[in-house]
Amino acid sequence: MNHAQSPQRLIDRFGRLHNNLRISVTDRCNIRCFYCMPADNVEFMPKEHLLTFEEIERIVRVGTTLGIDRIRLTGGEPLVRRDLHVLVQRLAAVPGIRDIGLTTNGILLDEQAQLLKDAGLKRLNISLDALDPEVFKAVTRRDGYERVLAGIEAARKAGFSPIKLNAVSVRGLTENQIVPFGHMARETETVVRFIEFMPLDSDGQWQRDKVLFAHEIIAILESEFGPLRPVVATTDRGDAKDLLPVIGAVTTQAPAQDYEFADGRGRIGLIASVSQPFCASCNRFRVTADGKFRNCLFSHEETDVKTTLRSGGTDDDVAELMLECIAAKNEGHEINTANFVQPDRPMHSIGG
Ligand code: SAM
Ligand code: SF4
Repeated sequence: MNHAQSPQRLIDRFGRLHNNLRISVTDRCNIRCFYCMPADNVEFMPKEHLLTFEEIERIVRVGTTLGIDRIRLTGGEPLVRRDLHVLVQRLAAVPGIRDIGLTTNGILLDEQAQLLKDAGLKRLNISLDALDPEVFKAVTRRDGYERVLAGIEAARKAGFSPIKLNAVSVRGLTENQIVPFGHMARETETVVRFIEFMPLDSDGQWQRDKVLFAHEIIAILESEFGPLRPVVATTDRGDAKDLLPVIGAVTTQAPAQDYEFADGRGRIGLIASVSQPFCASCNRFRVTADGKFRNCLFSHEETDVKTTLRSGGTDDDVAELMLECIAAKNEGHEINTANFVQPDRPMHSIGG
């Protein structure tokens, strides 16, 4: 069948439509966040195993025939591929792609922000878990705090707005960063989104009692700033909202729940992946840097697309692999059940 003319969509057994492709461009990184990577001696993928920009563009072109219209570039640290803006430009030109976002640790953003903006990058999330340089270093096990701040400033100057910061919250490590982030959200245009620590590290450091839960983060903020008001659920679906009526099981639940401070100054978000999983409305499909389709961060199976791409496979073959991978998607991640088994790959190797 010619998928370019087909009405097929990436809809799974539970009625979820997948329009959001998260593309990991590398497993390498210039820092070593403890919840994502080992501290040292990381075995990276050989460079020839990484998908080329041509291969990524081809996957995206095929994806658009099945309803993909949003992309997020991630990794590893995507900006270590220093010509990433060239990929952004190529993907922005693919018909059907309405939105391209990037998640970065910001270390190399100072030199790349303007290039990325000019290439057509629409949205930027910068990960920063602490405003205190010592806590930053405890999390990342590397220097670089000042460079991240310079990266945020460069992003602002390049015209990215709003700038969203991602802060993973960890009990015993980052509680005392929550109020300073609250002040930052109130005093600047920055939206700070706190993320619950998920079991995707490589050193077995995740334990439930290290997760600082969303309700606890809210309590810390409210004790300093007064009541927080939920904003109508934010959606990660963007322009694909118009596609929702075709899906049975989608709820309004979205990854980030935003809150405003009672006086209307500032906004924060909570991504409660552990305590309030948003699996029921998940619209995400992934491709790893070494060319494996994944239907979930926590899945144990992958679908190899690189071999198909490199052995003369057709676009229809690639589309079939996408459909197969989505058809096998489980209902949810099971972190909160006794059945949960952490995936073999840590976060930097899957793509966050
Ligand atoms: N290197 C880039 C960065 O840090 O923004 C992109 C890749 S990183 C894997 C994507 C996001 O996943 C970051 O915001 C990071 O904080 C988050 N992350 C990584 N490991 C995590 C974990 N175990 N639990 C929750 N979030 C995690
Ligand atoms: Fe690198 Fe991002 Fe993982 Fe931190 S979260 S180690 S910055 S890939």
